[in-house]
Amino acid sequence: MELTLPGENSPTRIWVKDWIKSNPNATSKELAQAGLVAPHWPKPYGLDATPIDQLIIDEELRGSGIKRPENIIGIGWAGPTILHAGTKEQKDRYLLPLLSGEEIWCQLFSEPDAGSDLASLSTKAVQDGDDFIVNGQKIWTSMGHFAKFGILLARTNSDVPKHQGISYFILDMKSPGVRVTPIVDMTGMHTFNQVFFTDVRVPKDNLVGELNKGWELAKVTLANERVSLSSGGSLWGRGPTSRDLIDLLRMFGGVNDPLIRQRVAEIYSEGEILKWLTLRQISKAIKGAQPGYESSVKKALGDEHGQKLMNLANDIAGMKGSLESLAGIDSTSDLSSAITSWYYGFLFSAALTIGGGTSEVQRNIIAERTFNLPKEFDASSSKPFNS
Ligand SMILES: Cc1cc2nc3c(=O)[nH]c(=O)nc-3n(C[C@H](O)[C@H](O)[C@H](O)COP(=O)(O)OP(=O)(O)OC[C@H]3O[C@@H](n4cnc5c(N)ncnc54)[C@H](O)[C@@H]3O)c2cc1C
Repeated sequence: MELTLPGENSPTRIWVKDWIKSNPNATSKELAQAGLVAPHWPKPYGLDATPIDQLIIDEELRGSGIKRPENIIGIGWAGPTILHAGTKEQKDRYLLPLLSGEEIWCQLFSEPDAGSDLASLSTKAVQDGDDFIVNGQKIWTSMGHFAKFGILLARTNSDVPKHQGISYFILDMKSPGVRVTPIVDMTGMHTFNQVFFTDVRVPKDNLVGELNKGWELAKVTLANERVSLSSGGSLWGRGPTSRDLIDLLRMFGGVNDPLIRQRVAEIYSEGEILKWLTLRQISKAIKGAQPGYESSVKKALGDEHGQKLMNLANDIAGMKGSLESLAGIDSTSDLSSAITSWYYGFLFSAALTIGGGTSEVQRNIIAERTFNLPKEFDASSSKPFNS
C-alpha cells in the first residue's frame, strides 16, 4: 500500500529523527515519557499528533527498528477510557506505566451468560463505605493470569434497565478474593482465563466516571482510534497476509490445481480490498472526517478473510505440512513466535469471528448504524435489542 508522506523537511520527521538520535537505546519508559507510544493521545501522555504526524512517527520508529511496548487492553481500552473519564489522580497513577508496558491490563467484561449481549452481565458491585464489594465471574479474560490491573464492568443497580445500572472500575488483579483459572484453547496455548470474585474490595477511588454510567464508557475507545498503516496481518493485524501466502506459493513453483488456483485468486482479491479499506479510513482521518462504516466492515470482512486464508494454507500444506509447522509449539511457547506459524494461525483463526464482537453482531452494527435499518427484535423483552 502506497501513501506519500511529507519528506525530510517535515518538522515532525526532523523532531523524531533527532529524538531517536539522542536516545539510541531508548527504553519503553522513555518512549512513553516522550509521548511516542500513543502519539494521538493528548499531551503529556501523547503528542496530540495529527493523523499524518502519527504515520510519520510510525515510519521513523519502524525505520530505526524501535518497537513500541505491547499492552493491547491497556493502551487500546483502559487508557482511552481513563483519559476520557478518569480523575486527575487516576491519570497520574495509571497512564504512564500502562503506556510503557510496565503494567499490563486485562479486560473483565464477558461472562458465561453475557457475551454479545454484554449488558446482561450479572457480576455485582455493592457499595460498602469507601469500597465496593464485588462478587461474580468473568470468562475469556485474555492476559488475566499476568495482568496487574483489569477494567471491570459490574452491575451497581439492578432496579433499572440493564444498560443503566453498570459501572466501570479499575481492579487490582492481586486483590484478595480474585481467583484466576486458566483456559487452554485449541491451539494448545494459555492466553485466556476464567476470573472469579469473592467479596473483592475495590476502593471507590477506582470507579471510572460516574456510578451507573459504565455502559457509555465501554463504547469510548473507537473515538480514540490510532491511525496506522499496519502490516494487515490476517490474525487481527498480526501474523501472515494473503500476499505472504502467495509469495510462498511462488517460491515453491506455483499451484496447478484449478480449484486451489481459484481460492488463491479470491484470497488475493480480498486482501487487496481490505488494504484499500484501510487506506480509505486513513484518508478520511487525514481530512478530519468522522470515522465511518469502514472499521465495522473491515472487521466483518477481515475476520472471515483470516479464516479463509488459514484454511487455504492448511489445505495446501496438507497433513504433513501442518504437523511440521506445529512441531515445537506448546502451552509455554511465546505468542509472538507461535503466531508466525501458519498452523497456529489455522487453529487460532476460529477465534477471529468471535472475539471483539462476533461476525453476526458486526453485521447488526453495519445494518443499524450504516444503513439505518430497524433494530433487531429481542424476543425475551418484546423490545428491540440494545434499546
Ligand atoms: C480470542 C478471544 C479473546 C477474548 N478476550 C476477551 C477478553 O480479554 N475479555 C473479555 O471480556 N472477553 C474476551 N473475549 C470474549 C468475547 O468478547 C466474546 O466471546 C464475544 O463477545 C461473544 O460472546 P459469547 O462468546 O458469549 O457468544 P454469544 O454472545 O453467546 O454468541 C453465540 C452465538 O450467537 C450469535 N449471536 C449472539 N447475539 C446475536 C444477535 N443479537 N444477532 C445474531 N447473532 C447473535 C453470535 O454471533 C454467536 O455466533 C474473547 C474472545 C476470544 C475469542
